[in-house]
Amino acid sequence: MKSNDLFDLSGRRALITGASRGIGRAIAFGLASAGADVALAARDKERLAELAVAIRGLGKNACVLPLDVSKLDTVGPAIDMAAAGLGGLDVLVNNAGVNGLGGFDVMDAPEFDRVMDTNFGGVLFACEAARPYLADAENSVIINIGSIAATKGVGVYGASKAAVHSLTRGMSRDFAVDGIRCVALAPGQVETDMTAHVRADPERLQLMLSHTARGRVATPEEIAATVVYLASPAADFVSGAVLAIDGGRDFFSVQ
Ligand code: NAP
Repeated sequence: MKSNDLFDLSGRRALITGASRGIGRAIAFGLASAGADVALAARDKERLAELAVAIRGLGKNACVLPLDVSKLDTVGPAIDMAAAGLGGLDVLVNNAGVNGLGGFDVMDAPEFDRVMDTNFGGVLFACEAARPYLADAENSVIINIGSIAATKGVGVYGASKAAVHSLTRGMSRDFAVDGIRCVALAPGQVETDMTAHVRADPERLQLMLSHTARGRVATPEEIAATVVYLASPAADFVSGAVLAIDGGRDFFSVQ
């Protein structure tokens, strides 16, 4: 195999949740640029349609899949539609997520459900629904977007991401019988809508950057590059890992 082939995703079929903005959009574009056909899932159909046009411009197939992952009983049917649209599924990227309940001061049941169902329930249901399709494919992989917040006690948000990390580890063992690799990414601060409030608070941002070895936040494309690697033949021996992409912030406690 030539070294370029190691990262070639030609013929691979990938479903990305939360593809309308931020990290998910960059992941979808990155996977398609490396050769994959993609199914784009999120709630904002217009943004997905715009991205699909851009991806088709690369000569790749792109299906638009309106989906609210927090409505757990709709996740399975959406995965079936994605697999039908792409003719199967090799890669599932569970990226959709929301910020919320980062502390313990105001507990609110609907908000708790929103955070847990989106960040954790949606991931679990998508993995279960995608399993038969991934089992039918060769060298298939699930990539779950967690967070370094999981290791820092960041309220319910951090707990939802810790659940994703734990689920990924467990699935890497249980899904191995079907030949499915399972990996979680734990990004640090990434420049997206989700973190606009941090960038709007210069003192907080400066404190955080001063505790980050690279001294900056990540771009969504830097997270996408790692996802391309994890989806590729180059990562065939990577499973059960929680990979921190945090610019060297993992050992600091400042959020
Ligand atoms: P973002 O810019 O706010 O984008 C979130 C994406 O998730 C959007 O595409 C949104 O699409 C989708 N989404 C939210 N709720 C959804 C739902 N119920 N159903 C379907 N899609 C939903 O956030 P981001 O920064 O790109 O975050 C992406 C992932 O990375 C999240 O899981 C987040 O927790 C994680 N993460 C982010 C950072 C960071 O610093 N940004 C750090 C660590 C981990 P619609 O609104 O169109 O549905």
